[in-house]
Amino acid sequence: MKTFGYAAQSATSPLAPFAFERRALRPNDIAMEVLYCGICHSDLHQARNDWGWSLYPIVPGHEIVGRVTEVGSEVTRYQVGDAVAVGCMVDSCQHCDQCRKGEEQLCREGNTQTYNSRDRLTGDLTFGGYSKHLVVREEFALRVPEGLDLARAAPLLCAGITTYSPLRTWNVGPGSRVGVIGLGGLGHMAVKLAAGMGADVTVLSRTPSKEADALALGADRLLVSTDAEAMAKAQSGFDLIIDTVPVKHDLNPYVPLLDVDGTLVIVGQLGPMEEQNTVPMLIGRRRIAGSPIGGIRETQEMLDFCAKKNILPDCEMIRMEQINHAFERLESADVRYRFVIDMASLQAA
Ligand code: NAP
Ligand code: ZN
Repeated sequence: MKTFGYAAQSATSPLAPFAFERRALRPNDIAMEVLYCGICHSDLHQARNDWGWSLYPIVPGHEIVGRVTEVGSEVTRYQVGDAVAVGCMVDSCQHCDQCRKGEEQLCREGNTQTYNSRDRLTGDLTFGGYSKHLVVREEFALRVPEGLDLARAAPLLCAGITTYSPLRTWNVGPGSRVGVIGLGGLGHMAVKLAAGMGADVTVLSRTPSKEADALALGADRLLVSTDAEAMAKAQSGFDLIIDTVPVKHDLNPYVPLLDVDGTLVIVGQLGPMEEQNTVPMLIGRRRIAGSPIGGIRETQEMLDFCAKKNILPDCEMIRMEQINHAFERLESADVRYRFVIDMASLQAA
């Protein structure tokens, strides 16, 4: 199938129009027309090869919502016209212990990512949602629940599940004290989801400038992480802290904020940390952990939870050709709180 999208040809080139082929449908594949695609900070990291494993050309996009246009001969879950969504994964081995538990993100053989990855059968590069059409095996498509606004649902597929999963792993519920470091795409979803679960939520931001937003999103307060006095007062006050900061940063000021047995879970930066003082970890039996996206079953659970609770991201809709400007704004934390590309703006050259 001939299609088109936007790709970066190297770590230093801007995204530009790109024509390519999607594979012919396998028996368990669905084809979809992409209607909306969110812009995650991971798209920017990978377009620029920040993590060192980018394969070019790269068509980013893993917060994808659209409609089924065609189904393979053995597809049972979806029909033409269904509203579907795709997140960060498009395949996994399907037989290891993690896949069988529904934790495909932890597949022992490595999951296949929606872009910047290799198809398990052909070895071809995978291309993401900054494109008009997508082909995916049905097991990796999600059902968009009735009533969830399609235009705003896309960011749930990465920012939503990446913050929902640790909230569930660490059993957040009424009375839990949750901190969220960095109020960006992931951070604002963490606030909405934790508040939706009944937690007491604190945003930890570098300046007080997002305080009104934090409260409007459902947080109980904003703590300025650069205010040493306020940080000292907040010691031992959190059960779980979700860290969404995209760049190397110092965790030493944050770990003492955890109560005994509390966990700081990193969902943001990938790579070496600053030197970490273990004293507050040992003294308070505090943990530093990490968490990648979430499994397919949990992603569906998150979508259903959001539909039931009417939880949706705050989106700024852009046109496809504004993508490079949007990347610049994302880099300077100038987005409240997720860019979403309206794919109707993407026309064949
Ligand atoms: P984002 O929208 O750019 O938000 C990041 C937030 O971090 C900013 O709004 C800002 O909040 C804070 N921040 C930015 N630069 C900072 C700096 N130099 N020092 C301290 N704080 C800073 O990014 P995002 O889309 O939420 O993604 C966040 C990170 O998560 C990225 O690294 C992304 O690759 C990663 N990610 C991981 C997974 C996973 O599976 N674990 C999934 C998706 C994304 P304040 O202004 O409030 O301080
Ligand atoms: Zn993402």
